[in-house]
Amino acid sequence: MKITFPHMGNVYIAAKAFFEELGQEVIPPPRCSRKTLETGTKYSPETICLPLKVMIGNFIESIEKGADTILLTGSCGPCRFGFYSILEKGILNDAGYDVEFIVYDPIGEGIGKLKQNIFRTFNATNVREVLRAGRLGWGLIHKADHITDLANKTRAYAVDSYRVDFIINNYYREVEQVFGEKEMMDLMDNTIDALNQVEIKKDYNPIKIGLIGEIYTIIEPFVNFDIEKKLGHMGVLVEKSLTPTSWLEHHVSKFPFGSRTENEKYRLAKPYLETLVGGHGRETVGSAIHYAKEGFDGAIQLLPLNCMPEIVAKPILTTVNKDLEFPIMTLILDEMTGEAGFMTRLEAFVDLLERRREENLVG
Ligand code: SF4
Repeated sequence: MKITFPHMGNVYIAAKAFFEELGQEVIPPPRCSRKTLETGTKYSPETICLPLKVMIGNFIESIEKGADTILLTGSCGPCRFGFYSILEKGILNDAGYDVEFIVYDPIGEGIGKLKQNIFRTFNATNVREVLRAGRLGWGLIHKADHITDLANKTRAYAVDSYRVDFIINNYYREVEQVFGEKEMMDLMDNTIDALNQVEIKKDYNPIKIGLIGEIYTIIEPFVNFDIEKKLGHMGVLVEKSLTPTSWLEHHVSKFPFGSRTENEKYRLAKPYLETLVGGHGRETVGSAIHYAKEGFDGAIQLLPLNCMPEIVAKPILTTVNKDLEFPIMTLILDEMTGEAGFMTRLEAFVDLLERRREENLVG
């Protein structure tokens, strides 16, 4: 079995080391590129949401490098993600790729199949081994997310923000050279040390923006045009409302009760949106309110064109914006989105937040 998975932000870093450590042969998906998107778009239905198109591109690139098994999480929520695996298998088969899908469906869909898939991919023969693997995976993804967060914070405060890019680019290059948990953890520790040594500006109070919206567009830098980097180079402190760690905590490690942070978002969203609308629609509303209460200067909602849960959240954010006098900008992404226009909107939004802050200080 030569396994691969979708490229979603930094998940591939943890997943590569995780499955290598468990003795699996891993073909990590190459970093997303224009070619990945073009390949995915060629084979996908025109109106399907962007993440599926990019994933099809990822899978074809990995299959051409030798992968024969695709790992994917499943869903039963009221949005298209629930049928991604079925649709993707159909698309790949029609395109002539014979590949196996192993889907980690939610527990509500039946424990037997989920257990079988976990034991098989984790190379485990008993629950103890599964728990050991779980701890291993948790440690890796937690540290990978810590690096992303630290890089974003450091970039905003750095005397030379491009020094952060240099460190992170080296990290990404070396991820491909290392093998297994120990080497990956050492590389991550070295990267953290290097980031901590970046010279930072004293007494600097950056504009703070929360990134909210659909999880894939928040965490995958190729589809969001490296928004964290762009804002960081403008001296803006960026925080992401959703990360792989927060997703795992809410849906896996704290299941069935959910994490305290995500439950708090549901509570905040409740006066505006009471029910599940699929994806992270409720979290988007709750996160906007959270960032307003935390004293952030604004929030940016990111969503793929046609994303059902985020389309529901979008008009509600207009009400939140009025009620809390909290600036929120929405950016919709698809394969036709141009980077120059995207950049102009980011600059205009940051400009607006700076002027607002100055006026509040004068007033
Ligand atoms: S959350 Fe949005 S982008 Fe993701 S699968 Fe559902 S509809 Fe598509």
